[in-house]
Amino acid sequence: MVEREIVGGECSYWACMPSKALLRPGEVLAEARRVPAAAPAVTGTVDAAAAFKSRDAFASDWDDKHQVAWLEGAGADLVRGVGRLAGERRVEVELAGGSRRTLEAARAVVLATGSRAAFPPVDGLDAVGAWDNRDITTVHRVPERLLVLGGGAVGVDGRGAALDGGAAQRVHAGHLPRGGVQGRTGPLER
Ligand SMILES: Cc1cc2nc3c(=O)[nH]c(=O)nc-3n(C[C@H](O)[C@H](O)[C@H](O)COP(=O)(O)OP(=O)(O)OC[C@H]3O[C@@H](n4cnc5c(N)ncnc54)[C@H](O)[C@@H]3O)c2cc1C
Repeated sequence: MVEREIVGGECSYWACMPSKALLRPGEVLAEARRVPAAAPAVTGTVDAAAAFKSRDAFASDWDDKHQVAWLEGAGADLVRGVGRLAGERRVEVELAGGSRRTLEAARAVVLATGSRAAFPPVDGLDAVGAWDNRDITTVHRVPERLLVLGGGAVGVDGRGAALDGGAAQRVHAGHLPRGGVQGRTGPLER
């Protein structure tokens, strides 16, 4: 296996796992508030510091040692570096130090390089320092306001950064108003 970052990919560190860890505290409180007999017991809000700590643990502190141990236990060899197809069943890897290593596959090369968030061409989006899934899942401070652009699964998960709804949030699933995103300069606080 060739990996350029950390074994486990997006899901383990910047997607499924940390986003669920951030969503869970708010879900639990909301669930309790829906039960009339339990609702009066919910008098506080989510402990943000504890939620972020728990998220860090779910993301294994962005350390892949456990996944690497599992991989090696399954009999796979890990080569850390950036791979590229260099011929039939051949992959050239640029290793961390800059040297190169060529690997030959006995049967086939599986391309499983995933994807990255793409920012749509929206006027003003650059200026507001918009977040992608990596920013939203590694947040260490509840944003005061959160506008989620895109109402798909990732967008809906992304609202988890607001924890218990501490941020005024809006999932924007329709078209942006003419003129794009305005009224905010500088990066959002993380
Ligand atoms: C916020 C969020 C929440 C999500 N929640 C869920 C969920 O609850 N359930 C669910 O099923 N899905 C969820 N998803 C989707 C899920 O994360 C993705 O479907 C999954 O991560 C895709 O896995 P993958 O292996 O295809 O790609 P990736 O996870 O992106 O893995 C690709 C790997 O290839 C490596 N790589 C890329 N190029 C090279 C190269 N040239 N050389 C070496 N290595 C390379 C990358 O570093 C990476 O580790 C969520 C996504 C987001 C963003």
